[in-house]
Amino acid sequence: MALLEARSVAKIYQTQSAPVAALQDISFAVDAGSFVALIGRSGCGKSTLLNLCGAMDFPSSGEIVIDGQVTHRLTDAALTRIRREKVGFIFQSFQLLPTLTAAENVELPLLLRRARPAQDVRKAALDRLRWVDMETYADRLPHQLSGGQQQRLAIARALVHDPRLLLADEPTGNLDTATGDMVLDLLRRSAREFGVAVILATHSSESIGLVDRVIALRDGRIEKDTGPR
Ligand code: ADP
Ligand code: MG
Repeated sequence: MALLEARSVAKIYQTQSAPVAALQDISFAVDAGSFVALIGRSGCGKSTLLNLCGAMDFPSSGEIVIDGQVTHRLTDAALTRIRREKVGFIFQSFQLLPTLTAAENVELPLLLRRARPAQDVRKAALDRLRWVDMETYADRLPHQLSGGQQQRLAIARALVHDPRLLLADEPTGNLDTATGDMVLDLLRRSAREFGVAVILATHSSESIGLVDRVIALRDGRIEKDTGPR
């Protein structure tokens, strides 16, 4: 069974003026461990689609299925559980909490789940910080870190709860090329080492040689899909 499936998805935003058809007729399935690039120009619908895939928003028609569960049919409690347990998000702007240290930022997803004792939470956070090679920065605040270091931290935070799905929205947009390549390599390793399904939304083609599959969007529709490999 695919980990994530979009079935004839459309998304129409209602606005004061005309409705905006952001996505139309989107269908694909992504398996665990697969690294997928969702590429297309600004405004083609990438962020809209990622938000649907992370159950942060719902299709106007069609279905998004995460690990066998149709998102728009779930209760609020089940949605919260899916977002906290199955999904990790990474953003262009990192979205770290400025008053928390690196280690505390990474611990946060585990604390929200209240599932583990404090020492286990700290250990899991340090494990992930080590995995992104940031262990020595555990006590720094985000503003004391470079952009690349902040994004590595955000990746550690997105992976600390062992999600099944990692959604990255233009994660290299604020980084220079070398640092961006390092981030792409970490995303690829997340898929390989943890079996996470990784979907990378990007307007650039820098990642094409690294990913397993490219889904190209144009004006809200799939223009090309190189398919599962
Ligand atoms: P991308 O991430 O590829 O740049 P988006 O998903 O952000 O594209 O946007 C797709 C389209 O939907 C654009 O035309 C955008 O203006 C529109 N859009 C996005 N969010 C909203 C919203 N909340 N309300 C109305 N229109 C929106
Ligand atoms: Mg976007």
